[in-house]
Amino acid sequence: MNHMTRRRRASQHSVKLVFAPLMTIEENILLAPLTTFKIGGPARFFVRVKNIDELREALAFAKEKNISFFILGGGSNILVRDEGFPGLVIKIEIGGIEEKDGLLIAGAGEEWDALVLYVVKKNLWGIENLSGIPGSVGAAPVQNIGAYGAELKETLSFVEAFDMSRGLIVRFSNAECGFGYRTSMFKKEPGRFCITSVELKLSKNGVPNLSYRDLQGLKNPSLLLVREAVLGIRAKKFPDLTQEGTAGSFFLNPIVSKEKTEELLRRFPQLLKFPAENGVKISLAWLLDRALKLKGTKRGSARLFERQPLVIAAKRGARAGDVRELAEFVASRMREELKIEIEPEVRIL
Ligand SMILES: Cc1cc2nc3c(=O)[nH]c(=O)nc-3n(C[C@H](O)[C@H](O)[C@H](O)COP(=O)(O)OP(=O)(O)OC[C@H]3O[C@@H](n4cnc5c(N)ncnc54)[C@H](O)[C@@H]3O)c2cc1C
Repeated sequence: MNHMTRRRRASQHSVKLVFAPLMTIEENILLAPLTTFKIGGPARFFVRVKNIDELREALAFAKEKNISFFILGGGSNILVRDEGFPGLVIKIEIGGIEEKDGLLIAGAGEEWDALVLYVVKKNLWGIENLSGIPGSVGAAPVQNIGAYGAELKETLSFVEAFDMSRGLIVRFSNAECGFGYRTSMFKKEPGRFCITSVELKLSKNGVPNLSYRDLQGLKNPSLLLVREAVLGIRAKKFPDLTQEGTAGSFFLNPIVSKEKTEELLRRFPQLLKFPAENGVKISLAWLLDRALKLKGTKRGSARLFERQPLVIAAKRGARAGDVRELAEFVASRMREELKIEIEPEVRIL
């Protein structure tokens, strides 16, 4: 028995292990309802943590049992395998929103879009183009969420995290987070840092960011109008989460060399492309739709969404196997026909 004074519930068939006095670790909890794909088997152990002490205890439990652990937010960027996860899933529910010296600090467990609405109502500019992205505040820096001409890295000042290998609270400036296109050092070192809060620098006198072509028709819009326009565009591009499962864009847009871009443009003069830090970012949706004609391609109950083929939509009852087969098929067509390697944006658990 260690310092946590662990107690086990009396019944042999109990599914709950109680950590006194802090929290309950449950057993065999289905993960599908905790994800937006609504797919996947059970976690061997599952716990909700509301502060760093609970996080420490959860990690000690995993260590003692010699099992792996996974940090879960809103489950909107993961695909859980049909057989589930054999370790401990730690769901981050650290709450709180605080304003201090023009900065906004939000707990990792807050819902991202609720935070966007909160700051829009307070007339603060900076994250309105990121309206409607599902998931938690804590996961937002992991892949430097981005949409409609904006990225989190433009407003983020600091990230506070728990270094799970050293057992320390650490603080990272924007520059230390290693942000890039849908990536950060948190994504490159999964399992090392659990983000506990995020600090944003927002502006009272912002200028609308209308760089994205679908927003260019807006004339001097208010913050609320930008948010509503973004939500309107998103409603047309993504499946209705109340009806179907998805994790949004399943793949990353590939970044290719200038020579490769020229070769592609000779074959597909209308190909959409964007400048990127280390090459040219190619519109994968364009290639899947116009070059490979894959929109609507199905495997079991999963398909490339008709309105946006970067998105995999899954009917209720779909298997993770359906999604993975479809993703592998798409990757093989890209490799064989266009000699381009693509990578999933979604983390497969
Ligand atoms: C319909 C739909 C539309 C989407 N649109 C966009 C979009 O426009 N732009 C965009 O960028 N993304 C988009 N996404 C993807 C997703 O919403 C984001 O990646 C979001 O930030 C994931 O948050 P989450 O809390 O659900 O993370 P989860 O899915 O729970 O986890 C994702 C990853 O982050 C890690 N993680 C979670 N919380 C923490 C934490 N506190 N500390 C450290 N690691 C953590 C997990 O271990 C996992 O590796 C979309 C998804 C859906 C379903």
